[in-house]
Amino acid sequence: MSDGHEHTVVPEDSLLLFSGGLDSTALAAIYRPALLLFIDYGQRPADLERRASRQVASVLGLTLAEVELGIRAFGSGLLREDGGAQPSAAPSPEWWPYRNQFLATAGAAVALQHELTTVLVGSVAPDGERHLDGTPEFYERLDALVRYQEGAIKVVAPAVGRSTETLLQESALDEETLGWTASCHRSNLPCGQCPGCWKRVQVLASHGVEGYEWGTTS
Ligand SMILES: [Zn+2]
Repeated sequence: MSDGHEHTVVPEDSLLLFSGGLDSTALAAIYRPALLLFIDYGQRPADLERRASRQVASVLGLTLAEVELGIRAFGSGLLREDGGAQPSAAPSPEWWPYRNQFLATAGAAVALQHELTTVLVGSVAPDGERHLDGTPEFYERLDALVRYQEGAIKVVAPAVGRSTETLLQESALDEETLGWTASCHRSNLPCGQCPGCWKRVQVLASHGVEGYEWGTTS
């Protein structure tokens, strides 16, 4: 089920880990899960992501929950406020050790509280080239581990075999909604100079949305 092909079955009683970025916004539009979950885990752009998440959830008419997860002490790289030193194992500048495992586990705990069956994670194909916790194999293993435990919650990364560009085409999102998304890795005002910002500008440009500043729609 977590093979990333387009026919991945996503049940309605799903919870989607939601950052207000392009990937999770496209997934929200495509699958319209029962609950979006924004997690403040101590990431540097938490305020930006929270604002984007609220705006996008509102525009899409989906329910958003917000929780805090205290893993700041384990962070490293671009996403940590003080640019925490990277362990020598770091595969990319924005890597945060075990981040997706922490986030998916928190999502499963919230899914249990809401009697939901499935946690959706918005990893796309290029993520797996940057860190192992974005690969199909990682999600197969995590799904097996979480599903084994009480509640039998499933973990699915429906876009793990697709690119952001493909996702956006499928989602048919309009410019206004895309304009509210945010993807910066290191600032609460998009820095324009990190992998997250580069990707957003590049992807939006390929959709004919150029020079679109965050929050210019109101
Ligand atoms: Zn940035």
